[in-house]
Amino acid sequence: MTEMICPYDQCTGCGACAAVCPKHCITMSKDGEGFLRPAVDESECVSCGACTRVCPVNGKPEKHVIRYVTAENTDSRVLRRSSSGGVFAALAGVILKEDGVVCGAAQDDEKCVVYHKIVREGENLPELMRSKYYQSDTRGIYRDVRKLLMAGRTVLFTGTACQIDALCHYLGELHRSRFLYTADVLCHGVTSSLAVGAYLEDQEKRYGKTIRHFRFRVKKGDGPGAQWKQGGGTRMRLSFEDGTALLQDQALDSFFCAFNSNLILRESCYSCPYAGSGRVADLTLGDYWGADPAELTKRQAELGLSIVSVNTKRGEELLRKAAGSLEIHPADAADARRANLAFTRPQNRPNERSGIFEKIKTRGFDRTVRSALRGYYFRQTVKKILRGIVHHPETE
Ligand SMILES: Cc1cc2nc3c(=O)[nH]c(=O)nc-3n(C[C@H](O)[C@H](O)[C@H](O)COP(=O)(O)OP(=O)(O)OC[C@H]3O[C@@H](n4cnc5c(N)ncnc54)[C@H](O)[C@@H]3O)c2cc1C
Ligand code: SF4
Ligand code: SF4
Ligand code: SF4
Repeated sequence: MTEMICPYDQCTGCGACAAVCPKHCITMSKDGEGFLRPAVDESECVSCGACTRVCPVNGKPEKHVIRYVTAENTDSRVLRRSSSGGVFAALAGVILKEDGVVCGAAQDDEKCVVYHKIVREGENLPELMRSKYYQSDTRGIYRDVRKLLMAGRTVLFTGTACQIDALCHYLGELHRSRFLYTADVLCHGVTSSLAVGAYLEDQEKRYGKTIRHFRFRVKKGDGPGAQWKQGGGTRMRLSFEDGTALLQDQALDSFFCAFNSNLILRESCYSCPYAGSGRVADLTLGDYWGADPAELTKRQAELGLSIVSVNTKRGEELLRKAAGSLEIHPADAADARRANLAFTRPQNRPNERSGIFEKIKTRGFDRTVRSALRGYYFRQTVKKILRGIVHHPETE
């Protein structure tokens, strides 16, 4: 029923329509690819049009940009547990110290879902840290944020740009409240819990063990072999119920091969209206792929460095408050944009995307991805043979 509110392929699954409906007759439910979409109970609908008006897809995003900086958290422990430069944790730390709350994406490993939640205590912040590459469910969160803002509580809301825009549309004029800060991840797209679940199922078959936990971008830590390498050195960590764990290299892990090749993204991500140098949030956080590897410090190369697009005065203010726990340097706008495609345009949709979820459901994840990316796997195998390397996932 998405079409009733906005064009099907452009629906981002942000959930603003469900949040605003006065009759509570919109439910966000999974489509055949596992992505959340609104379903309207027409018997309850009073045709008030609130859902169509709030839907960000029916408007034009309000975008801004002021300048770019590179940033890294000064605490190596935090940096190691973050996907890139640990900027999110620094911003969140400031807000929590001021008795505010932080909202972001947490993962339920057992149910294999990501959902937005509010954190009030620093000890719970790790739940929101690290990138989870499948779409977060925003159920109930916009309403909770509005209540907190109305009560004069400071809120840092983080997520993808479509979620930030959804919050702003839902809040109306309240989104200009001095109590609200927003930060988006420099998102090139999300996949669904169906894709992640199918991937995990195949890994369990492959290793003959049940997976208890999984983390998408693990830095191996200090010491030999530690590497972030502008994100490329991070690994998938699979932790099994027998207490063992494996680290799978991005170049050969089937999830990352599919995700980084844009095979399994949500349809709306291929025409994302938020891609580009102007942004909807106060701050935008990404991996700094534009850095010259020769100029990175050993710590940056091993543990990560972020690019931050400072988009509004509120963003400047929050970054200034967090400066005590970040090493910040100005960054060249052209370098930042050249290296991170999401600062320029949406990702290309490969032809193999058509019907990929049906194939995943019938043939399984690994087989489908290997078949769709035959050329890629062939090149990787040739590279390994030439270098005399046999790939075995590392144990932890
Ligand atoms: C789906 C996705 C795609 C991305 N694509 C790119 C890219 O193409 N290029 C690039 O440079 N950077 C990309 N990033 C951003 C990058 O991976 C880091 O998240 C970002 O640089 C922040 O890193 P950090 O070390 O400061 O914080 P971290 O602790 O690593 O990240 C935590 C932050 O990520 C948010 N988050 C995590 N998972 C989700 C999710 N599923 N939905 C919404 N928010 C989430 C949390 O709410 C929190 O704000 C992407 C992130 C995500 C989630
Ligand atoms: S038109 Fe009004 S009542 Fe009907 S689904 Fe939309 S918001 Fe709900
Ligand atoms: S408000 Fe969001 S979830 Fe609802 S139709 Fe529009 S894009 Fe889709
Ligand atoms: S690419 Fe765009 S539409 Fe897709 S999740 Fe990211 S911000 Fe939303």
